[in-house]
Amino acid sequence: MRSSQKRVIKIFLLCILFIIIMNQHTFLITKIFINNITKSEIDYEAYREMKISSDIIDCNNELYDNSNPYFNDIGYITFNMLVNDYDLINKKNKSIKLFVKSLPALTNNEKFIELYNFNKAVFLDLKCFPILKPDYDNINYYYENSWYAHRSYGGDRLHEGTDIFDSDDIKGNIPVVSITDGVVENIGWLEKGGYRIGIRTHSGGYFYYAHLYSYSPNLQKGDMVIAGQLLGFMGNSGYGPEATIDMFPVHLHMGIYVDNNGEMSVNPYYILKALENQSIKNISYMIY
Ligand SMILES: [Zn+2]
Repeated sequence: MRSSQKRVIKIFLLCILFIIIMNQHTFLITKIFINNITKSEIDYEAYREMKISSDIIDCNNELYDNSNPYFNDIGYITFNMLVNDYDLINKKNKSIKLFVKSLPALTNNEKFIELYNFNKAVFLDLKCFPILKPDYDNINYYYENSWYAHRSYGGDRLHEGTDIFDSDDIKGNIPVVSITDGVVENIGWLEKGGYRIGIRTHSGGYFYYAHLYSYSPNLQKGDMVIAGQLLGFMGNSGYGPEATIDMFPVHLHMGIYVDNNGEMSVNPYYILKALENQSIKNISYMIY
């Protein structure tokens, strides 16, 4: 055998060895992930902070193929939450390959399925920021992460939402649109929320818009709304009996809830950040 042939065979064998080692490596890592997921309880508090990165909002739950009902974007987010301590901002997403290898074990895992269903309710129907881009030129707004900030009206409590403020503090100035398709489940006064609207989505999420100045004309309980549709105008209603205003600056309080044997809030802040940067797909119109 000529030496060049020997060299080719050597390289070939080395490649085979490399592939075997890599596969073994993936297999071991997958085993460790599954082990960790199976052993630990769901950390609901960490989950509810909803530390997701902007690109995640692109998910539309398309199946990557038909081999497994969880083999989709929501499944991939759920897997990364479980293996990255619910932090998808500071920790790098695992490879799709690892997700695929882990999936057969995850499909029988109660924790994975529970979180998957929460994530479906949160993410699947999201389409746009509650203030539409064409309006940005005429208005100024700001918001920050105020999840679990202290609140005292009605007793000591923690803030379970995100406040988007009108920088000019003008009631009725900023139009608020639905960020999802859904059905108007609640519309009317709440002592803490003022004039509020609650939208229930097809996937079971509840999206809550509070402290409005006014409602979109003719909007009623039971009405279907689509993402981008006007719900009302930003105000500062609430903190008292019906029609109380001016107790705080003009802002929209946005809340997102999923069903966990009762309502469980999640932090809308990173979701809003992601939606704000997203060019709106399928919404080339506004219904005001
Ligand atoms: Zn608030």
